[in-house]
Amino acid sequence: MGYHWESERGADGQVRPSLTLFLTGAECPFTCVFCDLWRYTIASNTAVGSIPGQIGRLLGDAIANGGGPTRPSDETGGEAEVTLKLYNASNFFDQRSVPSEDDGMVLERVAPFRRTTVESHPRLLGERYHRYAEALGDRLEVALGLETAHPTVFPLLNKGTTHRQLEEAIEDLRQRGTGVRLFVLVSPPFLAADHAVDWAVRSVEWGLERGAEHVTLIPTREGNGALETLRREGQFTPTTLEQLEEALERSLALGGKGVVTADLWDLARTQAKAPRLEERIARLERINLEGAVVEREIGRAR
Ligand code: SF4
Repeated sequence: MGYHWESERGADGQVRPSLTLFLTGAECPFTCVFCDLWRYTIASNTAVGSIPGQIGRLLGDAIANGGGPTRPSDETGGEAEVTLKLYNASNFFDQRSVPSEDDGMVLERVAPFRRTTVESHPRLLGERYHRYAEALGDRLEVALGLETAHPTVFPLLNKGTTHRQLEEAIEDLRQRGTGVRLFVLVSPPFLAADHAVDWAVRSVEWGLERGAEHVTLIPTREGNGALETLRREGQFTPTTLEQLEEALERSLALGGKGVVTADLWDLARTQAKAPRLEERIARLERINLEGAVVEREIGRAR
């Protein structure tokens, strides 16, 4: 449980504060091979009342204790300018993780915010999602894991869905006025490392063509045990900083309306051996905010 303030560029080009609340609840029923989110969940079903309670406490802390330069103030529009992300290390519309009995209180708590983002597996976008879409309109965004558009690698990820189902989910979200955010793995398991950047860019293109407003490039990192095994078997190579940089630069060159960013979470640790790490992360941060490639100061780092 915790929170994180950051600045984020929206599809309209405006940079606004974004507040992520990390909620704790029941584990996700799916078993995607690359996922380590179960480490942040509990073994039992989430208790009724727990999620609204966590949201209330975290919001209180985040607003009171602040988030540095991105913390909103009344002068900057307060909560009405903030994107609120409710990430529960699972699927928001899973009854075990977020009991539907709490929906009224959740909707009340998120009401002041400009936009609310939740994560969901496409198969869990049913009637409950429809009620959220009706209540929040275009102030709701749903994040889906595309991971890769590669036709033969995708089924090996054990996501319990297909590209066709993802396409249908995106279409349904858009028809209901919900924003679509997609996650793309820069180097998914089962894909040769020298094809990783090409397929990351093709996956971003796949998402933008289908109307995603935001695509986030995620460096695939070890930590769940399965990826370590696949690495030993030669079927997985963790994303390098160079791959992330190249995938972001080439994705931005695609043009179009959607926002493409690199996920920088934990990069300082996972890429600790990369040369000029601090400077390169700062450059990626600038690119994320500006939406345009910032030239590398001292050539290409390897
Ligand atoms: S659906 Fe999401 S939370 Fe569940 S295993 Fe897959 S990546 Fe992890």
